[in-house]
Amino acid sequence: MGLRLYNTLGRSLQAFEPIQPGKVGFYGCGPTVYNFAHIGNLRAYVFDDLIARSLRYLGYEVTHVMNITDVGHLSGDDDSGEDKMVKTAAERGKSVLEVAKYYTEAFFDDTGRLNIVRPTVVCNATEHVGDMIELIKRIEANGFTYSAGGNLYFDVSKFPSYGELALLKLDELQSGARIEVDENKRNPQDFVLWFTKSKFEDQALQWDSPWGRGYPGWHVECSAMSMKYLGESFDIHAGGIDHIPVHHTNEIAQSEAATGKKWVNYWLHNEFLVMGAGKMSKSKGGFLTLQTLVDAGYDPLDYRYFLLGGHYRSQLQFSYEALDSAKASRASLFDRVLVLRDKLHGGEATPVDGLCPAAKARLASFRVAIEDDLSTPRAIAELWGVLKEQGVPAADALGAAFDMDRVLGLGLAGLERAEEAPVDETLASEVEPLIAERVAAKKAKDFAKADAIRDDLKARGILLEDGPGGTTWKLSPDVASGKAPSA
Ligand code: AMP
Ligand code: ZN
Repeated sequence: MGLRLYNTLGRSLQAFEPIQPGKVGFYGCGPTVYNFAHIGNLRAYVFDDLIARSLRYLGYEVTHVMNITDVGHLSGDDDSGEDKMVKTAAERGKSVLEVAKYYTEAFFDDTGRLNIVRPTVVCNATEHVGDMIELIKRIEANGFTYSAGGNLYFDVSKFPSYGELALLKLDELQSGARIEVDENKRNPQDFVLWFTKSKFEDQALQWDSPWGRGYPGWHVECSAMSMKYLGESFDIHAGGIDHIPVHHTNEIAQSEAATGKKWVNYWLHNEFLVMGAGKMSKSKGGFLTLQTLVDAGYDPLDYRYFLLGGHYRSQLQFSYEALDSAKASRASLFDRVLVLRDKLHGGEATPVDGLCPAAKARLASFRVAIEDDLSTPRAIAELWGVLKEQGVPAADALGAAFDMDRVLGLGLAGLERAEEAPVDETLASEVEPLIAERVAAKKAKDFAKADAIRDDLKARGILLEDGPGGTTWKLSPDVASGKAPSA
């Protein structure tokens, strides 16, 4: 069948044809490193990982580029508000680069725990300002810019197809525009390419440029860095759907204004992870991180499994009940793999070209699911199918499953059976009654007492995990390795 992808540009499923046969240039917008990624952001990076893994699975050589935004991203995508990095640095009494380093490390720690393959190129905005200046010079030379109030702006009225990605109609937008906060702008959709004066004179990071000492607008970094590593035209650009109307729309306008060529052929956008009433927001606080889930007793891969259970173009509602069910399914998946592995008695899984017809058929259906706009729910169904199918030898079921896992990234091939630690009977006889007492307290809605029991046990290095089958306990890693509990 061949790979088909839903292209936001044109709003249709399209056969994928790379610019260079067999090779794919792929850019995904990376994080703004002023805070931890929340689990909604991580959906976007699991999606990027799915794109890269799927393309490689289908035989393409992929160059995956991701930026790290460490300058220029204001709290409003439309140039309003403050620089997110500068604001956090001032609040913490740290330098912008210290903040960036800390959260960049935290980001890769999270993505590593989620089995996200590191992009081929990871590039920081602050290290590419020269490339941005060169790009802005070309945009200016082609007549798309104007200076006002000390900033250099992109004039959207000079770019006739502005808003095509987001299906925006400029004339309608402008007649109905709300009062614009930046009075330097000729059109409300115009955006800053280079800031000098304006409201951010105390910006910590500044560079010399033909337009004065200052710093780049946020959108221009993605254009400059993607072109540096992937060329002036490339195949795929991805990000969350919130980026369609402003960030990606502006990236297209300035890139094509600079080169005069079509910039990106396929635009892929992941839908949102929502919680309760709405969107999770990094700048508003009160969001869940991967560590929050780990602290609540989940494995990062439970969250990966949860995400893959939905199609990337469907909104996903996050709840702990849904995560519990992903956790239980993933546990039984791992269990099934381990049971099959035991049946091999140390033998090897069958290589894909030697699979029995039934396993081969499952693998073919898996490929069709991936080729059909990366349908992970169907792909996971095929994984389960081959692991459970009667008559498929264990070695063949595992051979197919391990191959599928090159896309799903659940770590099936390297699974180890958890060492059953010998139960400390004395400790168990102390802890079990306390757990029962806590269950009773919760039932009686005495949450203060329930929490106190949990905290007391934690202080002794005993961690409780509430799951669908009840509450279990384990020693904290510190205590298990002989150290004092780190409360
Ligand atoms: P940011 O660091 O704010 O630039 O966001 C990083 C990525 O996360 C972008 O691709 C966003 O589109 C995406 N994103 C933000 N919030 C969510 C959400 N709740 N669900 C899915 N993706 C999101
Ligand atoms: Zn971007």
